[in-house]
Amino acid sequence: MADADNMPVSNFIRDMIDRDLASGKHQNVITRFPPEPNGYLHIGHAKSICLNFGIAQDYNGQCNLRFDDTNPTAEDVEYVESIIEDVRWLGFDWGKNLFFASDYFEQMYMYAEEMIRKGLAYVCTLTPDEFKDYRGVPTRPGKNSPWRDRPAAENLDLFRRMKAGEFADGEYVLRARIDMASPNLHLRDPAIYRIRRAHHHRTGDRWCLYPMYDFAHGLEDAIEGITHSICTLEFEVHRPLYDWLLDQLDVPCHPQQIEFARLNLTYTVMSKRKLLELVKNDVVSGWDDPRMPTVCGLRRRGYTPASIRAFCRRIGVTKTDSLTDIALLEHCIREELNESAIRAMAVLDPVKLVVTNYPADKTEMLEGINNPADPQSGVREIPFSRELYIERDDFMEEAPKKYYRLKPGQEVRLRYGYLVICTGCVKDPATGAVTEVHCTYDPETRGGNAPDGRRVKGTIHWVSAAHAADAEVRLYDRLFNVERPDDVPEGGHFTDNLNPDSQRSVQAKVEPILAQASPGERFQFERTGYFIADAKDSAPGKAVFNRIVALRDSWAKAGGASS
Ligand code: ATP
Ligand code: MG
Repeated sequence: MADADNMPVSNFIRDMIDRDLASGKHQNVITRFPPEPNGYLHIGHAKSICLNFGIAQDYNGQCNLRFDDTNPTAEDVEYVESIIEDVRWLGFDWGKNLFFASDYFEQMYMYAEEMIRKGLAYVCTLTPDEFKDYRGVPTRPGKNSPWRDRPAAENLDLFRRMKAGEFADGEYVLRARIDMASPNLHLRDPAIYRIRRAHHHRTGDRWCLYPMYDFAHGLEDAIEGITHSICTLEFEVHRPLYDWLLDQLDVPCHPQQIEFARLNLTYTVMSKRKLLELVKNDVVSGWDDPRMPTVCGLRRRGYTPASIRAFCRRIGVTKTDSLTDIALLEHCIREELNESAIRAMAVLDPVKLVVTNYPADKTEMLEGINNPADPQSGVREIPFSRELYIERDDFMEEAPKKYYRLKPGQEVRLRYGYLVICTGCVKDPATGAVTEVHCTYDPETRGGNAPDGRRVKGTIHWVSAAHAADAEVRLYDRLFNVERPDDVPEGGHFTDNLNPDSQRSVQAKVEPILAQASPGERFQFERTGYFIADAKDSAPGKAVFNRIVALRDSWAKAGGASS
């Protein structure tokens, strides 16, 4: 983990920054992360956060956290607060540089008036349908709006009255006057201001006029003195407009927009609109459901900030769209927890194992190694007694030859304990289900090794029935059962691809130390996976664990079936 976190990074954006510093174009680097507060951050945003804040860190520059809150209808303070918490949790610090685009509304409005005065913007009354019709298609020039040559004084008067609230929503828009014949549709007189009576989470009802994204974003960057404005590829076609606007206006600087490929992950939807739909329709328990690709979902699932940063480092930054295997994200957390997580035994599907030759009234304490990867972590005591719990599938009455766990006549090792030989089982006469497995132990093998050197192939985990605690264990799996859940046939919906088995809850028997786990504590349950004590639902006397990730990729192994 430490290695991945310290890996030198290089990418085309850093190369460009290096050139800009070498040529003297810039003396310092200022980037920004500009979320719209209309949803919770997801792992794709984490890529952008690591990129922007990472550059600021490595170049001793600055990265602003800026809320791009120019579209009031879907925005909310709940989202603002969650975004602040998530960026901080990921390990980044913006110092004093927290900004809101809505703080620039007055300034942006003045820039719009400047455009009108320069004959570069006009108030238009085309209906949305006409607007689209006039704009045309890339291969054919559009048609000029009949209002295109409205005199500046008249435009200014109308624009001020738009601001004053004299017109209905949508009645008028302000458009930039660029080129209706441009092959780039974004340059065909795009709308830059529209009337919308909506309550803004910061400016309240002060405005009924809001700037469009393309107009606002470049101005926000220029006002803040951003040197490199990094965004995702879909904005590449907007760049000529970004540059045109900043060239026309008397702005403090002209940032360089640079585009990179967004993160797409297998088995995952990333669009905020779709994530919101899952939340609203109770498909998941909330934005922080441990199956969500949101930063708060991953946090609750048990991911660490370092594992997410390591993931973002490994995927790199390119200009080509691609699909990243979610197994890489899982690999990053596994790799970290293998080093750091305390091992413990938990039986997820318990059946009794009776050690018939062990005294009924005896308990002894065995020694367990807390973490073989970390000698500093020490050892702990584990109670052993005559009646234990083991995993139901660690016993088979009729077993194949290569089954090295418990089957009649076979000897196995109980982890940290003794070698035992299976002597049979007890079944429920009605159902035929195994209710108890029986075995005898060899008292000479305490700790798991036979003095005569005989070997056993299988080692299984267990807990002492009298000492075990109960715990709810939530076995999470991928939320979708296809690699590209966004790809749906005509008439389908992405929710058709939901994995019906993405959450399964079991009542487990766990080692005593697990009953005392504090919320947020992570463990490796031996042979099973990595787990975290759920921060929300665990309470004293009621342990709830979330599976962060299985030890091995059970999904791929089972050919796509749930584990
Ligand atoms: P969505 O498409 O999920 O609704 P968005 O791009 O509209 O997301 P913003 O709040 O505008 O969400 O995003 C803030 C920043 O995060 C932008 O710079 C955006 O480019 C970046 N970003 C969003 N999604 C991804 C992604 N999947 N990979 C990398 N960067 C992303
Ligand atoms: Mg956006």
